[in-house]
Amino acid sequence: MPRPELPLLSDLEQLIRRAAGQVDARVVCEAQAGLARLPVYAITLGNPDPAVPAIGFFGGVHGLERIGAEVVIEYLRSLITRLRWDGLLHRQLESLRMVFMPLVNPAGVWRGTRANGRGVDLMRNAPVEALEQVPFLLGGQRLTRWLPWYRGPRGAAMEAESAALCEVVERELLPRRFSLSLDCHSGFGLRDRIWFPFAHTAEPIRHLPEVHALKEIFDQAHAHHSYVFEPQSLSYLTHGDLWDYLYLRASSAPDRVFLPLTLEMGSWLWVKKNPRQLFSRHGMFNPGKAHRQQRVLRRHMAWLDFMARAAASCALWLPDPAARAHHYEIAMRDWYGAHTAAGAA
Ligand SMILES: [Zn+2]
Repeated sequence: MPRPELPLLSDLEQLIRRAAGQVDARVVCEAQAGLARLPVYAITLGNPDPAVPAIGFFGGVHGLERIGAEVVIEYLRSLITRLRWDGLLHRQLESLRMVFMPLVNPAGVWRGTRANGRGVDLMRNAPVEALEQVPFLLGGQRLTRWLPWYRGPRGAAMEAESAALCEVVERELLPRRFSLSLDCHSGFGLRDRIWFPFAHTAEPIRHLPEVHALKEIFDQAHAHHSYVFEPQSLSYLTHGDLWDYLYLRASSAPDRVFLPLTLEMGSWLWVKKNPRQLFSRHGMFNPGKAHRQQRVLRRHMAWLDFMARAAASCALWLPDPAARAHHYEIAMRDWYGAHTAAGAA
């Protein structure tokens, strides 16, 4: 069966070829796309020593949200071209491991669907049950693969793409004392959002102080940014979130910090500027006109680069016990509407 044509995948493979000898690339699974199969790549660069922190960038988990994959590929492209001349980047890579999985769900991108080739929504596919009421269907459903947000059959193993993502995170990120990840999506709301767990409960994560400290240095370094930084649970709760699942796994080691973030690009703004996009399936999730697409790609590069620098330099901003209590108090007040006694963290 010949491989179906997928320009985004060819683009990524060309980039990998161009960077031969400077990055490692491996096929972590093959996604079923009709009768054919499409490779899912993981690309690594930087210091493999587990003693250094790591960052992972993920995109294309939802096939329709092509712009997420494009943002990650664009950042990877920028790094690879800079390897030739940017000495500071080489210094950064001595103290940082970087992992890219830009096209987690190539079959979904090829078919123009949110789900993978087997009709499963990968971001509802992890073995995590919501602890509170989730929105009907959107929160994840097991009724049928013919409706969106299908979790897969009860008790079944995770889909190949979900399992591959988890394997990459467990192999490259979780063995470290500190790691960050960013998963790029689009399609929700008017504003660009940065989400952190949980999605399966409205309760805060144990590393709320660390997330808040990260937000604080981002606010200070990029004072005019327009992201809304908040827990996903403020928007909606879901079953089966892969990042909740991986965060919970990471938390089994008490001194390990793994902060998985999601960039949710607010596509409704693009639709508002060009309402005709409402009538196209891709239009609801992608910027459309070339100039708007370029603006979107440009806008997020600073945030992705900030994340990499923050990961590399985590020792300089991660809060100590006294600062943790302070961050906890502000975070609980701002994000969870709570008044707490300092020191409760
Ligand atoms: Zn998505």
